[in-house]
Amino acid sequence: MPAYLVNLAYLLASALFIFGLKGLAHPRTAVRGNLLGATGMLIAIVVTLADRSILSYELIVAGFVVGGFAGAVMAVKVPMTGMPQMVALLNGFGGAASALVAGAALFEAHAAGLELSRQFTVATAASALIGGVTFWGSLVAFAKLQELISGHAVVFRGQHVLNALIAAVCLALGIWLVAEPETDRVYWLLVAASSVLGVLTTIPIGGADMPVVISLLNSYSGLAAAATGFVLSNNMLIIAGSLVGASGLILTQIMCRAMNRSLANVLFGGLGAVAVSKAEEDKVYAGKVKAASPEEIAMMLETARRVIIVPGYGMAVSQAQHAVQALAKLLESRGTEVLYAIHPVAGRMPGHMNVLLAEADVPYEALKDMDEVNPLFPETDVAIVIGANDVVNPLARTDPKSPIAGMPILDVDKARTVVVIKRSLSPGFAGIPNPLFAADNTLMYFSDGKKAVNDLIHALKEAA
Ligand code: NDP
Repeated sequence: MPAYLVNLAYLLASALFIFGLKGLAHPRTAVRGNLLGATGMLIAIVVTLADRSILSYELIVAGFVVGGFAGAVMAVKVPMTGMPQMVALLNGFGGAASALVAGAALFEAHAAGLELSRQFTVATAASALIGGVTFWGSLVAFAKLQELISGHAVVFRGQHVLNALIAAVCLALGIWLVAEPETDRVYWLLVAASSVLGVLTTIPIGGADMPVVISLLNSYSGLAAAATGFVLSNNMLIIAGSLVGASGLILTQIMCRAMNRSLANVLFGGLGAVAVSKAEEDKVYAGKVKAASPEEIAMMLETARRVIIVPGYGMAVSQAQHAVQALAKLLESRGTEVLYAIHPVAGRMPGHMNVLLAEADVPYEALKDMDEVNPLFPETDVAIVIGANDVVNPLARTDPKSPIAGMPILDVDKARTVVVIKRSLSPGFAGIPNPLFAADNTLMYFSDGKKAVNDLIHALKEAA
């Protein structure tokens, strides 16, 4: 295929990526955006395969079948609540693939006895470094989200010094690889050192800070791909990788802002889920928690003029979004205004609540972000918190030592009455008690989220 045609096709694919990203910025245009991006990727793959015969088509088809099968099985098997972990894994595989492709290009160039350019060697070193950090960092993030390991921040004395030392070793190995690219061993040493760095820089981050790690690793996976693009001199990979890297960085910044933390503070602060003793929990809850039945709550809802629904991770676990939408419709049919308050880090991945509510056909106009909805809580009759915990925890405002200190929260405690639907007094992801559950104006409704909302609907209909 002539080079100008290849580049023209890559240009078209890049434009489709950019329009796709623009579409993804709003729920109404997201499906179209996704389709545009996928079309761009299809063009990029077909043209790349037609352009170069790096491998035999048999091997490519074999890889496609094995990878496609694994992907299809995962897509079908992984529940919606497991999506954040899956995204973490996908980021990791992206990083690993970039590092391995760059390594393969290096070994192939050695075997062919080619003279290596500075661009090639610098990009190979960058790909090995970023790819190794991304893969192992993502595996740790996966294990934390899947609760294979504790979500606590793992901190120890001298941690920052050790991390700085390993980062220096990585840098030195990178320089060595650039200076002496003919030694294969250096590439593997660099991959090993960056893998250790990936683990050690992710373990001190935990609890409420995980959204930042996920978005940052997403950005790294793009940067690794862009570096490999320079190794292969493939414009498409450079552009696609840069777009992922840049959008991941923007998302990281949004997540940091949502938590009112600087990136440096998240990366080096060593905050995370903490272990809270029973005695500490008793101090917050003992004798102060009031439970209510669906009938009691239905009575309050009957006369409410404004209700704000606050979804959190528990709504995803119980898959209550359709029931929540049905409850909102019922209330609206009786003249109650119903809004949804969306916290940017609610759930376990950016946009988690928006996706679930969109799936249940909740109109976008009813979803209010934090700045918009917080002033409305004092004028709200009932705030229904369903499976949210950390994002409504007033300790963020009052306890400077709390792992979520300074994180802007949804001010549900300012509503006239707060109904909290969850199964127990267990803490959320950050592992801390929540004084909201013991507040004078809070009623706890202990139940699975979906069952609770369906029972509420039933009680409301009975009362009519
Ligand atoms: P939380 O993790 O704070 O709390 C979720 C609550 O849901 C739990 O207290 C749990 O209580 C309840 N729950 C679980 N299952 C059910 C069920 N079946 N029915 C009803 N309730 C249930 O969630 P939030 O959304 O408030 O906060 C998100 C947290 O996760 C933040 O700390 C955030 O930083 C972190 N995080 C966010 C990411 C993101 O990108 N959005 C990524 C990674 C972490 P109980 O067991 O008693 O039912």
